[in-house]
Amino acid sequence: MTRIRFDGCDLSRAARDTPAARVYGSGGASVPEATVIVVRVAGPPYSGHCLCGGVRFEVAEEPLSAGYCHCTRCQRRTGTAASAQARLAPGSFRLLAGEALVREYAPGDGWPKCFCSVCGSALWSKYPDTGEVGSVRLGLFDPGHGIRPQWHTFVDYACAWEPIPDDGLERYPEGKPR
Ligand SMILES: [Zn+2]
Ligand SMILES: [Zn+2]
Repeated sequence: MTRIRFDGCDLSRAARDTPAARVYGSGGASVPEATVIVVRVAGPPYSGHCLCGGVRFEVAEEPLSAGYCHCTRCQRRTGTAASAQARLAPGSFRLLAGEALVREYAPGDGWPKCFCSVCGSALWSKYPDTGEVGSVRLGLFDPGHGIRPQWHTFVDYACAWEPIPDDGLERYPEGKPR
């Protein structure tokens, strides 16, 4: 069995940069029976980008909350059963690149939805009263953040073909009160 020792500093570097297979050797050594999985979770600022990379952004503060929206609008907008998103603190969003690529669809009675005009990635919605970025799609964020969904909204409209998992998160039949 190969034993590898890290001091605290090296351990976090290994967890961040090195796949376990490389730490323990790709062909020879097997992973020890008692393996400690270290997941490095970093605080803000959080970075993210769209699929084509043209739109890049940063979030400077911890989001107010995060969760899944199961409304039919989000189903169509994403082509999936639900949209995972983080509700941002006002003033915490910074667009780093791609302003000219961002297009907006305003349904009229809801928050304007923004997407990348090159790759079609769903980006964020905007607070209707201020026009600030309000809710960023969680899948855009680069790995390593500690943002975790805490709720499901519009569960009364959830798809029949993908039941909401029994995950213990808060559930709201309609929207989540702000
Ligand atoms: Zn894009
Ligand atoms: Zn929704």
